[in-house]
Amino acid sequence: MTFAATVITLYPEMFPGPLGVSLAGRALERGDWSLEAVQLRDFATDRHRTVDDTPAGGGAGMVLKADVLAAALDSVEPGRPVFAMTPRGKPVDQARVRQLAAGPGITILCGRFEGFDERIFDARPTIEQVSLGDIVLSGGEPAALALLDACIRLLPGVMGAPLSGAEESFEEGLLEYPQYTRPYEWEGRTIPEVLRSGDHAKIAAWRKAMSEHDTRLRRPDLWERYSGARARPASGAQRETKD
Ligand code: SAH
Repeated sequence: MTFAATVITLYPEMFPGPLGVSLAGRALERGDWSLEAVQLRDFATDRHRTVDDTPAGGGAGMVLKADVLAAALDSVEPGRPVFAMTPRGKPVDQARVRQLAAGPGITILCGRFEGFDERIFDARPTIEQVSLGDIVLSGGEPAALALLDACIRLLPGVMGAPLSGAEESFEEGLLEYPQYTRPYEWEGRTIPEVLRSGDHAKIAAWRKAMSEHDTRLRRPDLWERYSGARARPASGAQRETKD
């Protein structure tokens, strides 16, 4: 089955972009996935092909018009999850990416300027609002590329060794353990001895311990969920500033 991606954007020329090279690019050539970039402006109804207007209530920037967004969305074949990229959305995670990669594909709406007229989400309630994280991009396109990349690398046959996806960050709710490669000594620093021991059980235990250690220090949010610890925001915050 081909994973079919449709991206609605004011900049179709940004696609496939980085997804046209390396693993994703070869998979695209093989037909493991397909990509259609739809020009949002084609769904404008006036002579000037207007896609945006000034924010109601005033303020800087422009807002994408609900009628144009709806016309573009309604032109796309239904049956696939529809995402709108927005910092106001739920942060997308690896579990959701796995679900998406196992499905028929995805339709992605890319924002620009100040974002979308909110009524599009009331009128088309199946749209999932997702964020790439607590950063503000100038447009939804890089977010769409990142989300697609995360899905495509999970498609059967896209990554060389199927197992290399299984032990990664987030798969067990933890960050991955640190990795090392040759040379054994570099700038006076050596690779941890346990990794040269050949003792697979010991290596697995070390990796698990490092995963837990790093997750606890770097991502208290993940650690809390993983360990089932009760929320203790005050002491957690103190510990973090001391480290
Ligand atoms: N005024 C908006 C930001 C608009 S940024 C706000 O403060 O919420 C312009 C567009 O970039 C957005 O519509 C969205 O499509 C995209 N974008 C910006 N940051 C993003 C993020 N963290 N995740 C996903 N999309 C993002």
